[in-house]
This record gives sequence, structure tokens and C-alpha cells, in this order.
Amino acid sequence: MLDQLQARFPDLHFVAGERFCWSPQAHEVIYDSSRQDTTAVWSLLHETGHALLNHQSYLADFELLQIEMAAWQRARELATELGITIDEDHIQDCLDTYRDWLYKRSICPKCSTKALQQNNHTRYRCFNCHTVWQVTPSRFCRAYRATKKTASAGETVFSAANLATISA
Ligand SMILES: [Zn+2]
Ligand SMILES: [Zn+2]
Repeated sequence: MLDQLQARFPDLHFVAGERFCWSPQAHEVIYDSSRQDTTAVWSLLHETGHALLNHQSYLADFELLQIEMAAWQRARELATELGITIDEDHIQDCLDTYRDWLYKRSICPKCSTKALQQNNHTRYRCFNCHTVWQVTPSRFCRAYRATKKTASAGETVFSAANLATISA
């Protein structure tokens, strides 16, 4: 699959790493070289989708979900071209993971009211109790202590794999 994608998109850089992600800064699709299963193929197509759409760092939380949906749509098209099918349940699970994460970020830590993100996209403000809390745009691409290629701190990468480890 990797060879097929590389042949099809010679301008894209595929780099072995320890998880699947797209790094807009490095302009690299990083893939988990230890995985060969079906979902790994889907993840590769998804990250390739980000790359082909040239997704940059997102600004507001609500934009992240749109970006994720767009990448999956591109992945679906790629899969069709390559004669494979991505399980819709898998896609919805991935999107739900993002939805859960975004929802948790937006809940007031003091009174549990759902709040709106402020204009600078780095904090939320509760309209009920006026609590303000910071969120980190690059939080979902935490730097890993790793031996293989990973994104460095502060870089924004689009990866579903590490979302599960986030406590909002
Ligand atoms: Zn509140
Ligand atoms: Zn993604």
C-alpha cells in the first residue's frame, strides 16, 4: 500500500515512525512501521488525505472536526481508487473520539456548563460562572519520548492514535 501511494503521489514524503500522523510543518506523512493490519492501511489513507488536502494547523476547535471529516472523505476516495473499502464504523469511531475530546475541552471545570471557545482559540470562557481556562491547540500532538521519528514539541500533527491518552 505504501509503495502504491508513493508511486501515485511522488511529491509526498512518507516517513516511518511510531504512529500515524501528518505533520504540516515537516510536510511528512508519518506511519507506524510496526503495524500491517487493516486499520493501519486505513490510517495511512487518512493521513495521506490530510497531506493531499494540505491541512495546516487548525485555529478553532470546531474546525478540527471539519478537517478530520475532510481527511476521511479524501481517504474514502483514495480507497475506492485503490480497490479497498474503509469500514464506516471505523471512521465514525475516529470522529467520535475527536468529538469526545473537543466536548471535554469545552466543559467548564467549575460548573460543568458547555462553554464557547474565545476568539484567540487558546481558551474557553464559561458564560455561567465566567471561569476562563486555557487549551493548547497542539495538545493532541504531544511530543513523545521516542527513538523513531516523531513530531517535536509545539508542532501540530493530525493523529487519532494519541487522542486516547489525552485528559482534557
Ligand atoms: Zn462555569
Ligand atoms: Zn486526522
